[in-house]
Amino acid sequence: MSLTVEAYDASQILTPGAGYLGEYDYSLNPYVGCAFGCSYCYAAFFAPFDKQASWGDWVRVKRNAVLKLSRMRRSLEGKTIYMSSATDAYQPIEQRLELTRSLLPILAARGACLVVQTRSPLVTRDIDLLRQFEKVCVNVSITTDSEEVRRAFEPRNPPIRARLDAAAEVAEAGIPAAITMTPLLPVDEPRRFAEQVAATGAHRFVVDQFVGTTGHFRAGTGKEAICLADRFSWDAERYERARDVLVSRLAPDIREGEAGFSPGYLLSNPSPRS
Ligand code: SF4
Repeated sequence: MSLTVEAYDASQILTPGAGYLGEYDYSLNPYVGCAFGCSYCYAAFFAPFDKQASWGDWVRVKRNAVLKLSRMRRSLEGKTIYMSSATDAYQPIEQRLELTRSLLPILAARGACLVVQTRSPLVTRDIDLLRQFEKVCVNVSITTDSEEVRRAFEPRNPPIRARLDAAAEVAEAGIPAAITMTPLLPVDEPRRFAEQVAATGAHRFVVDQFVGTTGHFRAGTGKEAICLADRFSWDAERYERARDVLVSRLAPDIREGEAGFSPGYLLSNPSPRS
């Protein structure tokens, strides 16, 4: 698979929060497109129509992102920012470009409150900068306990063990971490999975099921992922059974769906858990 990379000047770097992320002041996407190319990616629905089929094979880099952010006049003090809503800020190209890394000190210096959403262990590279935020949370996506399932739905993603270890490293560094099991994919052993994610030291957990595709202009789960779910016999009933096990082990620090992404939840102090 070859990746097409294109740099361009974006008209803006911060987008007002809306929809699922309506409680955030802004979302921030350093890139457009995502080389992780997950089969269920909702963001693919927001790509230009002619680029949706090749989602995962191209990335556009906002080469003016640092300039735009540093020249921004409006105050970011106490503003909540979700990074990222339609890309992964730590996808492989970030290793070389360090664009996300360049944005972090600007956000921290301006007093922003940041939620980072990623599935990449590369986020641990920036622990030094994430420490500079007064309020921050690193959400690590871990969607299953099965490498077979992971390879089917997310073949270009880092392995599960690497993501668990990354979350643990973030938490160990004193940076609040959350595990987002969204969408929850077929799980072999829900109880063991709950133990694995709890062992990372993350302080928040989020679980959610697929969003059904309802039309051309609404984000939803791609056809490929729906077929895969059928192949693994993953239906609403099995999801609910797995969810109930996760909730019983991880309560009170687990939420389902949109409520789990609330900045008030992710950026608040952890409650003591046994
Ligand atoms: S990592 Fe996130 S943005 Fe990237 S393809 Fe997967 S779901 Fe989409």
